[in-house]
Amino acid sequence: TTASPYVNEPFTDFSLEVNQKALQAAIAKVKDELGREYPLRIGAEKVMTEAKITSINPGNLDEVIGYVSKADQALAEKAMNVALETFETWKKVPPQERAEYLFKAAALMRARKHEFSALMILESGKNYVEADVDTAEAIDFIEFYAREMIRLSEINETQPLVKIPGENNRISYIPLGVGVVIPPWNFPLAICVGMTTAAVVSGNTVLLKPASTTPVIAHKFVALMEEVGLPAGVINFIPGSGAEVGDYLTTHPKTRFISFTGSKEVGLRINRLAADTVPGQIWIKRVVAEMGGKDGIIVDETADLDAAAAAIAASAFGFQGQKCSAGSRAVIVESVYDQVVDKVVALTNKLQSGLPELNFAAGPVIDKASYDRILDYIEIGKTEGTLLAGGGKAEGNGYYIQPTVFGDVGGKARLMQEEIFGPVLAIAKAKDWQEAIALYNDTEFGLTGSYFSTNEERIAEALDTVHCGNLYINRKCTGALVGVHPFGGFNMSGTDSKAGGYDYLLLFTQAKLTSRKV
Ligand code: GLU
Repeated sequence: TTASPYVNEPFTDFSLEVNQKALQAAIAKVKDELGREYPLRIGAEKVMTEAKITSINPGNLDEVIGYVSKADQALAEKAMNVALETFETWKKVPPQERAEYLFKAAALMRARKHEFSALMILESGKNYVEADVDTAEAIDFIEFYAREMIRLSEINETQPLVKIPGENNRISYIPLGVGVVIPPWNFPLAICVGMTTAAVVSGNTVLLKPASTTPVIAHKFVALMEEVGLPAGVINFIPGSGAEVGDYLTTHPKTRFISFTGSKEVGLRINRLAADTVPGQIWIKRVVAEMGGKDGIIVDETADLDAAAAAIAASAFGFQGQKCSAGSRAVIVESVYDQVVDKVVALTNKLQSGLPELNFAAGPVIDKASYDRILDYIEIGKTEGTLLAGGGKAEGNGYYIQPTVFGDVGGKARLMQEEIFGPVLAIAKAKDWQEAIALYNDTEFGLTGSYFSTNEERIAEALDTVHCGNLYINRKCTGALVGVHPFGGFNMSGTDSKAGGYDYLLLFTQAKLTSRKV
């Protein structure tokens, strides 16, 4: 069978009441199922542990989403053994057949789209659009990587090796082994699904350790894969603490690769731990890490200032700035600085905080640790710049923080250098467009950036010199689409991988050349 050409999953239009109603019905349904207990999944076994992770609604702290079983080292070891054993059979399943499981999963997720979004609204604090986009991206990743595996398996036909007489040469992309997948909570479905399905469709087996703040949505995905008949043991679900289970598996001799998305600190730690070889280990572990960003939007005096201001606000405050792609900096050329800042402040002040299930523009941040850290940064900001909007807590029984804007922040300020991962925007003034680009580039990160201008020469220069993995012209710096905008950054933003791109599966495979005399 050949798959239809890949297309992105359309977003739901919530300006239509019928769509609002459908999502609200899904929220009601999910609410009826809150507070359940969830097991680990190790092979075909469902293990209910006594120790549990309590997942709560960050927008309503009295609401428990679920109690999720928690693996310790002994259970992680058991899961490793199951994954190793399953690898021996799963790696022999033909690529097309592996892809079929994904196609089925995508179809089922599409049919239940609002249910997945509703659960994310409650568990992670996303509003309707943010949750819908997350679910759409999850479907996209599944559809895209399934086709990618098929494409790689046909590469000898579509892109043959150079021929020489007397030999028949072929290349095949074979899997690596058991991978530890550690996804983040900020795209608790999309990135969890993308990282897991990429590894699995490539023929690897996986130990999935979901983020501790969003384990219920991760479990829902794992249950879906079981429902489509993915053989037991291909995805093993082992929530647990990073210090206990994460470190144990990162340093395990049988771990072949670690696929991580999260903070710079944790990514660097994994990279360091994984670099040490331990007795019984016969490979160099591969680390794929997608880490932070200090992304920004540059605006010169020729730009469409309304469009620029709208993009700055959307990039800074979408999902409360909790995206590694978030535009937490803006660099604006002096002559239009006041105009753009006024527009950004006006847009920011319009963002009302409140319950995600009621679809407020600004929701809570994920947990107490984030809340405290972001509020600390806001205090630092008050010493580094001029507070122009927000500046503290917002009302509500959750981790609500006002969308906050600081102006006149210097390039070396902590607000311009450190990833805050919250609704805090720092704006800097540049004397001209060249200085603006220099200010943008003065960071250890390099994930996303935008340049707003109508001047073709400057745009050409910006395309060349603005150093980041995802550079956008005259649009916001968040919202990369699978297949359209392969996503991932430079420098401390990670290992330069591109999720949703044509190189991604190569990270989870190794190329075997076979040469046969004829
Ligand atoms: N891919 C997402 C975007 O372009 C961001 C992913 C992340 O924050 O990890 O907005």
